[in-house]
Amino acid sequence: MDIKITRAAALKEKPDSSTLVFGQSFTDHMFIADYDAGQGWHDARIVPYGPLQMDPAAKVLHYAQEIFEGLKAYRTASGAIQLFRPMDNVRRMNQSCERMALPQVPEDLALAGITELVRLEQDWVPHEEGTSLYIRPFVIGVDPALGVHSSHHCQYIVIVCPVGAYYPEGLAPTKIYVEQRDVRAVRGGTGMAKTGGNYAASLRAGTIAEERGYTQVLWLDGVERKYIEEVGAMNVMFKVAGKILTPDLNGSVLDGITRRSCIQLLKDWGYEVEERRITAEELFQAAKSGAMEEAWGTGTAAVVSPIGELAEGDEKVIINNNKIGEITQKLYDELTGIQWGRVADPHDWIVKL
Ligand SMILES: *Cc1c(COP(=O)(O)O)cnc(C)c1O
Repeated sequence: MDIKITRAAALKEKPDSSTLVFGQSFTDHMFIADYDAGQGWHDARIVPYGPLQMDPAAKVLHYAQEIFEGLKAYRTASGAIQLFRPMDNVRRMNQSCERMALPQVPEDLALAGITELVRLEQDWVPHEEGTSLYIRPFVIGVDPALGVHSSHHCQYIVIVCPVGAYYPEGLAPTKIYVEQRDVRAVRGGTGMAKTGGNYAASLRAGTIAEERGYTQVLWLDGVERKYIEEVGAMNVMFKVAGKILTPDLNGSVLDGITRRSCIQLLKDWGYEVEERRITAEELFQAAKSGAMEEAWGTGTAAVVSPIGELAEGDEKVIINNNKIGEITQKLYDELTGIQWGRVADPHDWIVKL
């Protein structure tokens, strides 16, 4: 499908890369494609960035028929631009679409929407150490009708924004507590889909955690309220007695691309990785016995985020003396090294623009 480009009449001034706030300054253009039942995807186009017009009855506004993705474009030392495992995002996007009764986006169209927009906006990919261009593809159902049905008219949209270094002062360990009231997702629900409703359901707990001086919450499963699932909007891993533990993909855990990449690297380095059900109790016991060596979250925005303190009710344990662990740091260095083209990419994860 040809992509028609309508250029912005005037270009914005680019923000200072040292003071970028995540997700606040967007570039000059955006990608849009429309879907209509019977016709399929059509009118792929890049247009000036700006507000979307939609009917107030649009499905997405009432029934949250939407899914999204998140990935980054990285500037290498030679000035080239590259993406990290973009086809993994495209495939996951279609799995999310399937769950949310949205039409799947053909893989070549989904990828072209990303690559052609980044190509047009290439001057927006910042050069400073640790900075990148964050890419946010999303699909929405926009039928102007309040009946609870799947949409016949949908849109696939991509917006991009330059983002600063996530850790300008180095990787500081986070404080996490086990959330006992709210549940993010349940098996059979939408936890494995990257869909806005999961985030809406998590906002209250995240806000309260911040008010209490914590960085985020550790989510428990929604059925038995025993097994840990994710930390905030990241997957989570633990190093216990030399082995790596991470919750298995049981349907309510998001299949993170950073998670997948960490598991591969850990296996490459000879670690045993157990993907299984893990109770919060097991973790606290491991911490108290001294077997808990490291804990960290994984996700595209932060890559890895060390956990230095874990609390549940009145109980509190400190992990690795509240310092980043050796494996956490090694994963961070290796993944960011591959992403910015500083180290070899043995698994062909990089796609050059
Ligand atoms: C996006 C996301 C992640 C991390 O996925 P990555 O592909 O590694 O960025 C983890 N958990 C949730 C709930 C997410 O939405």
